[in-house]
Amino acid sequence: MVDFIGEARELSPYTRELRRDFHRYPELGFQEVRTAGIVARDLMELGLEVSTGVGKTGVVATLEGAQPGPVLLVRFDMDALPIQEETGAEYASQTPGVMHACGHDGHTAIGLTVARMLDAHKSELGGTVKFVFQPAEEGLGGAQAMVADGVLDNPKPDRCLSLHLWNDKPLGWIGVTAGPAMSASDRFTVRIVGRGGHGASPYLTIDPVVAGAQVISALQNIVSRNVNPLESAVVTVTSMIGGEAFNVIPETVELRGTIRTFKPEIRKIVLERFDQIASGVANAMGCQAEVDLQPVTPAVVNDPKLAQQVYQVAKEVFPEADISTQERTMGSEDMSFLMEDIPGCYFFIGSADHERGLDAGHHHPKFDFNEDALVTGAALMASVVVDFLE
Ligand SMILES: [Zn+2]
Ligand SMILES: [Zn+2]
Repeated sequence: MVDFIGEARELSPYTRELRRDFHRYPELGFQEVRTAGIVARDLMELGLEVSTGVGKTGVVATLEGAQPGPVLLVRFDMDALPIQEETGAEYASQTPGVMHACGHDGHTAIGLTVARMLDAHKSELGGTVKFVFQPAEEGLGGAQAMVADGVLDNPKPDRCLSLHLWNDKPLGWIGVTAGPAMSASDRFTVRIVGRGGHGASPYLTIDPVVAGAQVISALQNIVSRNVNPLESAVVTVTSMIGGEAFNVIPETVELRGTIRTFKPEIRKIVLERFDQIASGVANAMGCQAEVDLQPVTPAVVNDPKLAQQVYQVAKEVFPEADISTQERTMGSEDMSFLMEDIPGCYFFIGSADHERGLDAGHHHPKFDFNEDALVTGAALMASVVVDFLE
């Protein structure tokens, strides 16, 4: 096996430089014009066949091995978040209110490093690597936009891979889970309609604020009373909007939030009960409820055979690493839209460094990670690709 740790270490100044540059100039979903430009430039420099504007700002490149063989898609996301950075790092965001707080700057840098390493070893590859740099992972539909633009055609991938830097775990930890790894996500809006009036005369109104409070409380019963305790689900109300004055009962209140599940059968139970409870409790309080449930992403379900292969390669390449096969998260990932059609594996690279204080969680204004995780991620991804296409 090629010494990809050594090669990734050698390339680490390039990787770090890229990551810090992306970090300084973060771009929100579907606005990754500068980032995509750098990605396309570096891929073209390698002589790869590059398509830009795939799914608005996505970039796709193919690397042909010396021998024919299967097509392996490797995907890296590029978008930042609407967060004001508070790290104080010298490479901190130069754009007010926008920050790479999930590590996608690192993913993009890892992807370009993997492309560079694999290009140097293309004579050893039997098959095709399809590099996918995806926009708008953070809930804006980047994966779907790329699928709609044909990222899964010409050539159609046989398998797909992706990774995430993981600050919940320290550097030196790797997570590869067979089966469900990240949850399905649905978002909801419940509009509770009552009858407004004077705050001093509640008996003349139908108070949607009190009804909303009852609905929020009753929704907590879904996970505790309707879902098998050996399964997992989350129902979180994140927003309650209604009323403006201290002496006016409003006409309506709106609740918003998110539902997370792993299994389709559990998701079905939760969504059914959600609708029944929100409508039923609002009705009991004399209000009407308009319940709107929107699917966001399916669950990320890793192909067991491919997950086993990634695990074996990780063990071989990183014998010292703490490799978990049990990491599951109620976070969601739109990689699942690619994995619905193509068997795939999505794995995690521990990136936190408690000693240096680089351990704030994903989406936190102080999020930052140990950049040695870029070497781990690039070396592991390149090793898995070679193992698969050898
Ligand atoms: Zn994120
Ligand atoms: Zn992310």
